Amino acid sequence: MGTLRQLGQEDAAHIGQELHQFASELYPICRSITGNGVRQTLALIQGKVPLRITEVPTGTPVFDWTVPKEWNIRDAYIKALDGKRVVDFHKSNLHVLSYSVPVHANMPLGELQPRLFTIPDHPDWIPNRTSYYKEDWGFCLSQNQKLALEDGEYEVCIDSSLEDGHLTYGECYLQGRSTEEVLISTYTCHPSLANDNVSGLTIATFLAKSLSGRDLRYSYRFLFIPATIGAITWLARNREAASRIRHGLVLTCLGDAGGFHYKKSRRGNAEIDRAAAHVLRHCGEPFEILEFSPYGNDERQFCSPGFNLPVGSLMRSVWESFPEYHTSADNLDFIRPLQLAGSLRVCAAILDVIEHNRSYRNENPYCEPQLGRRGLFRSMGGEAGGRASGEEMMARLWVLNLSDGNNSLLDIAERSGISFSRIKEAADLLSEKQLLSLIP
Ligand SMILES: [Zn+2]
Repeated sequence: MGTLRQLGQEDAAHIGQELHQFASELYPICRSITGNGVRQTLALIQGKVPLRITEVPTGTPVFDWTVPKEWNIRDAYIKALDGKRVVDFHKSNLHVLSYSVPVHANMPLGELQPRLFTIPDHPDWIPNRTSYYKEDWGFCLSQNQKLALEDGEYEVCIDSSLEDGHLTYGECYLQGRSTEEVLISTYTCHPSLANDNVSGLTIATFLAKSLSGRDLRYSYRFLFIPATIGAITWLARNREAASRIRHGLVLTCLGDAGGFHYKKSRRGNAEIDRAAAHVLRHCGEPFEILEFSPYGNDERQFCSPGFNLPVGSLMRSVWESFPEYHTSADNLDFIRPLQLAGSLRVCAAILDVIEHNRSYRNENPYCEPQLGRRGLFRSMGGEAGGRASGEEMMARLWVLNLSDGNNSLLDIAERSGISFSRIKEAADLLSEKQLLSLIP
């Protein structure tokens, strides 16, 4: 994570391209809350990180909910009588109301009209609509497409199935030294929507990849689950694992050009809340901290009162706040390589704080130790002039002063205004010089 934290411009551009490439592989898949689109998505992620796939049968009770029927779709269209497809699922999987029951019929335009969804304000965009819990069918199309439909008879076909099957989710578990866990959760249920789905999948996958094989303090659990019902299903089946979660993040909308938003956990002052705010304060990009509310993504489930887990949510633009949200304009051009790389860097830096936030004791607490005698007025990094920079020196003095057993490194970083990474460097150096000892 240290290397990710210090990404140079060239590395950021390179990693950004790699992230965008993976996003473009995930983007075309027709996902929903169940079905083969979810399985294909998980298979692509499995190509990058080890994933355990769970299939939960339709009808399984999960708290107040029930695992729904499984939905799959092969084709859908609206055909004019001359045989030409005027709306074609194979051109965009957004064209079908997700979870549409199968239909094949001829009908006049007047009868079809109430089942056509558009966005009049953006006449070229196709909306994304769903009907998970009410059996229905419909088509989504651009306003211009709708206006071009002439009166008359149309053949409508949705070649889908809605049957008993399974709800599918994937977990990547990375064993650390402790059984206490850090949870990273993202959703697998949106069709071709880039920022609001694919960006979160991409960042979570690469974050897991960057952590795997490392010596970790915490164990890490990455969840790739359908939103809402997936989180409820996972929590219902994993109460024991949930009780081990010490820190968590829900990832969403991490590829657009907007600044960062961190939505605090229900607790509001959890270590993850402080770590995220601290990293954003030092990340060099615009950001805003949002208070918890019981509306949004799966933090709603993780932060429900029975669980009240310390889980916040990181995003760039906030869902629903950008006009492209849940439309065909949330496409691969809407997410950008450099923004994806920046998001990965910020996530890695937040986890870096969580991993290394420990308390130390100053072994020489009576007045300042003589730093010059120990070479601590010299910069170890060989900065200009060979002198420790002002900030490096201040970091050492803050760490020595506040390491009385009552302050963690994050406490010291917050109070000093110096970045956690700098404070951590100072603590490492002072430990090496035996001026500091780690409190177990
Ligand atoms: Zn969404």
